[in-house]
Amino acid sequence: ATLARQKLSIGLIPADGIGKEVIPAARTAIEAVGSDIPKTEFIDLEAGWETFLRVGNALPDRTVEILKNDCNCALFGSVSSPSRKVAGYSSPIVALRKVLDLYANVRPVLSVSPNPDTPPAVDLIVVRENTECLYVKQEELKITENGKEARATRLITELASRRIGKMAFDLALARPREHLTVIHKSNVLSVTDGLFRETVRSVAELDAKYKDVTIAEQLVDSAVYRLFREPQIYDVMVAPNLYGDILSDAAAALVGSLGVVPSVNAGDSFVMGEPVHGSAPDIEGKNIANPVASIRSAALMLRHMDYIKAADRIDAAVDSVVREKQYLTPDLGGSAKTSEVVDAIVKRI
Ligand code: ATP
Ligand code: MG
Repeated sequence: ATLARQKLSIGLIPADGIGKEVIPAARTAIEAVGSDIPKTEFIDLEAGWETFLRVGNALPDRTVEILKNDCNCALFGSVSSPSRKVAGYSSPIVALRKVLDLYANVRPVLSVSPNPDTPPAVDLIVVRENTECLYVKQEELKITENGKEARATRLITELASRRIGKMAFDLALARPREHLTVIHKSNVLSVTDGLFRETVRSVAELDAKYKDVTIAEQLVDSAVYRLFREPQIYDVMVAPNLYGDILSDAAAALVGSLGVVPSVNAGDSFVMGEPVHGSAPDIEGKNIANPVASIRSAALMLRHMDYIKAADRIDAAVDSVVREKQYLTPDLGGSAKTSEVVDAIVKRI
C-alpha cells in the first residue's frame, strides 16, 4: 500500500559469497533513482555463515532489532550453508521470513526480447505461500511390523491462503493482463488443496476491485508441463509453498541464468528483496557475478512499496543493457565484469 514516507531506511544484508558483490550493486542502482524516491538512508547489517563463524550467531539480535524498528525494507544477498550440519547454526533467511512475517515469496520471471517492440517470451510472476504447507516441518518416523513408516504434516489454513490470495490478486491487478492462475492438486488432495483453491478463489468476492481479474486454475503437474511448452499463457501464478518452490525454480530455467531472477519476501508491513541465486562460492570475489538479479530485486522492492517510477527506470535500464549485449557477465555468455555491468546500468538510469 502507498504510505507517505518522509524517509526510506533500507537495511542492507549482503551476508556471504557474491552477496557482498551484488548487494552494493543494488544500492548503487537505488541511489541512481534518488530523485523518484524519498530521502534514503542505507543501514549495513550483518548475518550469515561468516557472521556465525565470527560471533556464534547467524542472525545477530542487533540485525533483527534494527530491521524491525528502523527500516522500511531491506535487501538480502545470499548465505553459504556449511556442507555438514553445524551445532547452533540455522539459516538466517528462514528466520528473517518468520520474525518479519514475510508470508509471500514473489518471483517475477522475465525474459528480455531482442527487440524493444516485441513482447518478452516469458513474463510471469510466481507467488509462493511462504509459511506453511509441508514447510511446517512436522515429520515423524515410526517402526511398524512391516518396517519404517514416515509421515509429514501438511498445513493449509484459510488465513494464510486468503492473505496470499489477496497478494496475488493485487499483483494481477497491477499488470495489463490481470490474469491469475491458481495452482493446486485438489483432485488428489481434496481437503488441503481444496481449501487453498476455494479460499484463493473467494478473495475475488471480498472486494469489487478484483472483478476484472480473470481466474484460471491448473493442476501443478500440468502447470509445469505447460510452463515449458507455452509460458506465455501465464501472468500471475499463485501456489502453496511446495508447489510454488518447484514452479519458481522451473520458471527461472526458462530465462537463461540464475543470475537474472529477482524476488521479494513480502508481508503487510515489510518487504525484503533477495536474488533467487545462492552464494555462488565458485565465482566469489572475482568481480564476475551477474548483478542483474539483485538490481531487479531492488526494483521489485521499490515497486512493492509503490515507487513505480523508480522501479520502472531501473528495470528499463537493465532491459536495455541486457538487450544490447555489450555488457554481459560470463553466465550470459559475455566477458564483462560485475562493475562494468553496474556502470552501464547506472549510466542508462
Ligand atoms: P548456495 O549453496 O549458496 O546456493 P551454490 O553452490 O548452490 O551455493 P548458487 O548460487 O545456487 O551456488 O549457484 C549455482 C550456479 O549458478 C553456480 O555455478 C554459480 O556460479 C551460478 N550463479 C549463481 N548466481 C550467479 C550470478 N549472480 N552470476 C553468475 N553466476 C551465478
Ligand atoms: Mg544453490
